[in-house]
Amino acid sequence: MNHFMTLHDYLTNLPNRNFLNQYASVLLKDAESSHISFLYINLDRFKLINNVFGYHHADKLLSAIAKRLIFIMQDKMSLYRLSGDELLMIIENSSPEKAQYWAELILEELKKPFLIEDKNIYITSSIGISYSPEHGTTLQELLIRADTAMVQAKQQGRNTYHCYDPDFPYMGKQFNLNLLNDLYASNTFEQFVLHYQPKFDVKSLAMTGVEALVRWQHPEHGLLLPKDFIEMSEKNGVIIPMTYWLLEQSCKQIQAWRKEGKLHYLPISINISSLVFEQENLLLYTERYLRQYNINPADLVFEITESTAMKNLQKSYQVCQYLDELGIRIAIDDFGVGYSNFLYLKDLTVSELKIDRIFLRDLEHENTKEANKSQIILAHMIELARHLELTATVEGVENPEQLKLLTQLNCQNVQGFYLAKPMSKELLEQNFPTVMSLLERELIPT
Ligand code: C2E
Ligand code: CA
Ligand code: CA
Repeated sequence: MNHFMTLHDYLTNLPNRNFLNQYASVLLKDAESSHISFLYINLDRFKLINNVFGYHHADKLLSAIAKRLIFIMQDKMSLYRLSGDELLMIIENSSPEKAQYWAELILEELKKPFLIEDKNIYITSSIGISYSPEHGTTLQELLIRADTAMVQAKQQGRNTYHCYDPDFPYMGKQFNLNLLNDLYASNTFEQFVLHYQPKFDVKSLAMTGVEALVRWQHPEHGLLLPKDFIEMSEKNGVIIPMTYWLLEQSCKQIQAWRKEGKLHYLPISINISSLVFEQENLLLYTERYLRQYNINPADLVFEITESTAMKNLQKSYQVCQYLDELGIRIAIDDFGVGYSNFLYLKDLTVSELKIDRIFLRDLEHENTKEANKSQIILAHMIELARHLELTATVEGVENPEQLKLLTQLNCQNVQGFYLAKPMSKELLEQNFPTVMSLLERELIPT
């Protein structure tokens, strides 16, 4: 894979988080004695720009912002793209005063309009500042504090900067920030567990494998669902080591189920975030665990969303190709909600489409216009999968009516609370001890 692309962001050409991780070990080697400032820059209301002007303009705006900042930067300063609308500027040999001077300058620069394809776009930003050694001497400490300071700047009404202040009163974010700190602290991942949600063949209702869904057994807050922590762990990069850990757990589980002859639980599908999918290490770890646990690659499926696939098609193509050569299958998750353009399916070695549950949800309002339209779209997506020789799996089946409809539409696989909820390994083995289908066991009426 192209070395430059793994260390840089394809849109702005700025160095990315991978680059930052590598560079941090050099940069912060003598952090105790050197003075380094982190300026965490978040664009205000960027979502709105996306909605009003569209992705195309928003992308152009991001690269224009990067260009404008690079233009004013001086020696010993560097700029990184951390995620969507978040940039990080690092200033070496810096004092707090110097960092504040630059924060003000950046705010001013970004306030000037951006001319994007005949349109003047106005944007403001919020900046959080942390310094070493006062606020920390590791990348994680400095990033998290600069991020916290950025949130504090937003709370002050946006379009401003704020220096990290541990005593600043939070409004509502307290719980999140504590969690974020805990995530760093628990770098061992022992508190994370996988729950498994079965998938079924729509005709026989026999199990066709499980999807692994992460849970956080938090010592204070109890069992947390992905909605409480995945977004944050993507933001601070914890998702990367966490996914490798989950991947290893899945491989151990595959080995165990193979040994015990419980083949109906296989394959295990695991969810791969875009941040992880871009990592060369994903391929290295995958290969390592396949070998270490003697795994048949057909027992493992990677689920990626359409936006992950589309983010950098060239790269996705290479990764999919590589995984395909390894024998690991790829499923497109939440299919149908992201993009109207399905052309990417022609280039990627994908084997399954997991159709988002939103299409089932609309069917509730029987015989309404929306329900009819949703049903037509659903039918076509299932058709599309069949013509492309992909497995169609519909997510979110919550009642017998939906199941019946999907049988009529010739869908292949189904998943949903009506059939089985995500559950611990123990409950899975207790509830589904054998390959016997739900029909045979008379758990679902025929
Ligand atoms: P997803 O991949 O679309 O996973 C399916 C989610 O829908 C699961 O929520 C599942 O509990 C829920 N679900 C399943 N059947 C039904 C149903 O019939 N009705 C309804 N209302 N919901 C249903 P969960 O476990 O909370 O996961 C949410 C999301 O978090 C996942 O969405 C996935 O995007 C992400 N996620 C979960 N585990 C991981 C992981 O290990 N790594 C990464 N990167 N993301 C993960
Ligand atoms: Ca999924
Ligand atoms: Ca999904």
